[in-house]
Amino acid sequence: MLVQASEFSPYKQAVEDAFILCGVMLACRALQSRRCRQTSLYVDIAVLLASTAMVIVSVVLFASAKLESFFVQAFCALVIWRATLSFSRRIATASDKVLTVAFLFIALVLTGQCILYIAAPTPDLALGEWRLSVWGTLIQYTGLLGSIVLTFAVFIATSYDAIEKYRHQAHTDALTGLLNRQGLDSRLDSVFRPAFPEAATPTGVIMADIDNFKRINDIFGHAFGDMVLARFGSLLRQEADPQACAARMGGEEFLLLLPGADLESATAVAEEIRASFVSLRWAPHAPDARFTASMGVTVVEADEPFASALKRADDLLYAAKRRGRNCTVWNV
Ligand code: GH3
Ligand code: MG
Ligand code: MG
Repeated sequence: MLVQASEFSPYKQAVEDAFILCGVMLACRALQSRRCRQTSLYVDIAVLLASTAMVIVSVVLFASAKLESFFVQAFCALVIWRATLSFSRRIATASDKVLTVAFLFIALVLTGQCILYIAAPTPDLALGEWRLSVWGTLIQYTGLLGSIVLTFAVFIATSYDAIEKYRHQAHTDALTGLLNRQGLDSRLDSVFRPAFPEAATPTGVIMADIDNFKRINDIFGHAFGDMVLARFGSLLRQEADPQACAARMGGEEFLLLLPGADLESATAVAEEIRASFVSLRWAPHAPDARFTASMGVTVVEADEPFASALKRADDLLYAAKRRGRNCTVWNV
């Protein structure tokens, strides 16, 4: 159907059908590459060879365009079902959902057509008459519909992806990979994550600040200071379980929110981070240097505005600074 030919040739049919199946396989590979999973190339080649063999048998032995298009559609449906079902188990974003729905739609249409082919008692048309018959028209229109659905789905998915990418960049601190202030505010406000943090009272709040950081910059340079910030950020990330939320509030000041943690366990976490930070080694730049951090720990009380708990944690942090730094001060 791709190319009009004056003379019938089974090779033309086989090549056209192989093109169609290859297109479907490429689309399925593109879908699966979103989640870093790929069907083996050998499986795709085997499916392509099997489909081509069935097409040649249909055209040469049975001279049946109906049988030929049945096999092509069945193989296309098989490839799409396999890729879509495997991908649907790893859906992670809204774009994944949109693409899954589009692929499922195409798989369903193809499967429906195959069933119709088997079930409907139609005269077996000669190859030349097939293109203009009801069946030929049906295939061409459903093929067109599938392409339009897929095009829109890809357009929507790539738009979603771009929005997500820029949102992520706007909400992430580039140096540490933690949330920045804007990201933290958005996380706290998000109606899509109501479980965080109000629903999970108590929520532990740890405010942390690296001690004498200006001196670190002055002595070892700004680039080394950046490395210290990045390593402190990864310490926080290690402590933050999937429910927790770690943010860089600006400069060398960090916040860790621990939903479900009471004052005692939040203080234990803060002490662990503080001790781990002190024990870090800084070879080769500063092999003998030891850096410290101060911590303020509190919990969000029931119905308390988050900002008020944050202010308390900040006051406790400065109490730790007044006590001589490298310590944790906690209070409710
Ligand atoms: P304190 O123990 O009281 O917290 O003293 P401090 O020196 O840690 O605090 P201060 O607020 O005096 O200095 C913070 C320094 O952090 C000043 C600023 O130049 C530096 N700083 C802020 N952001 C960055 C950054 O992204 N990278 C680097 N290397 N330094 C930064
Ligand atoms: Mg500091
Ligand atoms: Mg500071």
